Amino acid sequence: MRLRAYRFCVAFAIAALVFPFSLELLAARTIPPLFVLAPGGNSIKPVDSGWREVSDWLVGRKYAVLTFDDGPYGHGVDEHIIGILRKHHAHAVFFLVCSHITDSTEPVLDELKENGDLIGNHSFDHLKLTYLQEADLQHEIDGCSQLLAKLSGRRPYYFRPPFGMTSPLVTQSVHAAGMKQMLWNANSEDSWMTKPEQILYWSLEETDNHSILLLHDKPATAAVLDQVLTQLEQRGFQFVLPDHPPFK
Ligand SMILES: [Zn+2]
Repeated sequence: MRLRAYRFCVAFAIAALVFPFSLELLAARTIPPLFVLAPGGNSIKPVDSGWREVSDWLVGRKYAVLTFDDGPYGHGVDEHIIGILRKHHAHAVFFLVCSHITDSTEPVLDELKENGDLIGNHSFDHLKLTYLQEADLQHEIDGCSQLLAKLSGRRPYYFRPPFGMTSPLVTQSVHAAGMKQMLWNANSEDSWMTKPEQILYWSLEETDNHSILLLHDKPATAAVLDQVLTQLEQRGFQFVLPDHPPFK
């Protein structure tokens, strides 16, 4: 009798230890955790950690944010990229340059919304913001947010300074316009490399767990994106969006 009680206690203790872990594993299989920008704005961190991180580590699951700068590009390139994201059930942040929005590229904003992607602000004219005075900064940062809000119905929540060039004044203007500054820590090098295989190489080389990957709305990137996503998925990556206000 005493032996039976002992066995029951041991079984109960094991079950108590394993049960939350298996629940966590089950949850981790289906729902990605919530992420916020890490301090410095060039990577993400999960809001809740603990069991989740253990289960992700055990099954080799990693997370990354895909970001596409300088759109809308037009000529069907944006639509090509959105189509590949859709195929992979992935979402991305598109940092748009307001002066690139024309009558022919404006429909891209609706496509991004329909696909569940985030529209970010990449300034009005893609200038080096660290050289600008406060009034010009306001046009570049808040002026672009106002236009994006008017066209898409959503005020951007994330801002990326052109060339990643920022300063205390730029950061202050971004916060005053109600946004967070997002940089990156993984670079596909597609701003200057033109061969798809080079973009594939650097995307795979640089992307790590919790990375923000810098890509551009360009034909060479669109040409290799399916391979980039497929190979990152084979390495255990899921593509997530960081924390943002609920979509209306
Ligand atoms: Zn840019």
